[in-house]
Amino acid sequence: MKVTEHIKNAKGKTLFSFEIIPPLKGRSIQELYDNIDPLMEFNPPFIDVTTSREEYVYIERDGLLDKKLTRMRPGTVGICASIQHKYKVDTVPHLLCGGFTKEETEYVLVDCQYLGIENVMALRGDAMKGEQYFSPTKGGHCYASDLVKQIYALNCGSYLHDRVEMVNKANFCIGVAGYPEKHLEAPSLTTDLKRLKEKVDAGADYVVTQMFFDNQRYFEFVEAAREMGINVPIIPGIKPIAVKRHLQLLPQVFKIDLPQDLIDAVDDCSNNAAVRQVGIEWAIQQSKELKEAGVPVLHYYSMGKSDNVEAIAKGVF
Ligand code: FAD
Repeated sequence: MKVTEHIKNAKGKTLFSFEIIPPLKGRSIQELYDNIDPLMEFNPPFIDVTTSREEYVYIERDGLLDKKLTRMRPGTVGICASIQHKYKVDTVPHLLCGGFTKEETEYVLVDCQYLGIENVMALRGDAMKGEQYFSPTKGGHCYASDLVKQIYALNCGSYLHDRVEMVNKANFCIGVAGYPEKHLEAPSLTTDLKRLKEKVDAGADYVVTQMFFDNQRYFEFVEAAREMGINVPIIPGIKPIAVKRHLQLLPQVFKIDLPQDLIDAVDDCSNNAAVRQVGIEWAIQQSKELKEAGVPVLHYYSMGKSDNVEAIAKGVF
């Protein structure tokens, strides 16, 4: 079922969902299941599975280092299919512009159709590791809005080889990313919101936000989006702080602000177990307020180990 149908069927009740990352190549899918299992009691109607870009790895051969381009966490669509099969919940594979030609994207979408995957998240992707700026892949898309257009065209039966197939048309529900504190490359929040509107006008059905730690940012973002005519559901993305290093890393990587109270609480912790607890408590408070405000879904970035998301869900749902 589509994410938007789940939201509609919930009739105003806030749903619980989360996002996982595929295991590193060579690791077992069982690790993933072990982290998903405890979260199933909170009835997620859908689970997102991220996609990672290819990266350079260095292999030592005869005392020399060989540089090799590879995707270290492949398998997004396969994992989605296996989760749907095992847990009977919908999944949302993330599709990226970066690292994929339009043809390859079409093949992934066709696979999704055959596997009964009805939702996809359309993203541009970040710059490759070690590069400062995103550069589009030859034959690929520059912006997420272009990817949305391709998926929407497929929903209208239009394939890249100029064939229109009116029978068995695709029918994907399309999610896109939104940034309550603006995307790091955008010159202003208003410009970024105009870009978000372009994605919605191109066919996106819902938005999932980047993490934020001050709910006010989300509320203001939703208000500004509505004023701009963005009327699709805007799902808040919540990330629990888990290690002290997040205090530097999150503002550095995502250009987001952390509230002083949260910084002080993390600073007072003597070890990462205490930090994890602070992160859980902060996320519970955030989630309760958002739920009270009637958000459609609370979407958690689980990043591997799910014990903190489980503790948050216990406190909120
Ligand atoms: P876009 O919407 O294309 O925007 C990128 C930038 O370009 C913005 O600054 C925007 O304002 C600007 N822009 C857009 N259109 C134009 C235009 N026509 N002209 C000029 N500027 C324009 N990354 C991964 O690698 N894998 C994942 O699985 C993944 N999942 C994510 C899930 C969520 C919910 C979120 C919020 C992010 C995720 N990301 C993921 C990160 C995402 O790929 C990065 O934030 C990326 O830098 C931007 O992606 P986007 O889809 O928002 O890009």
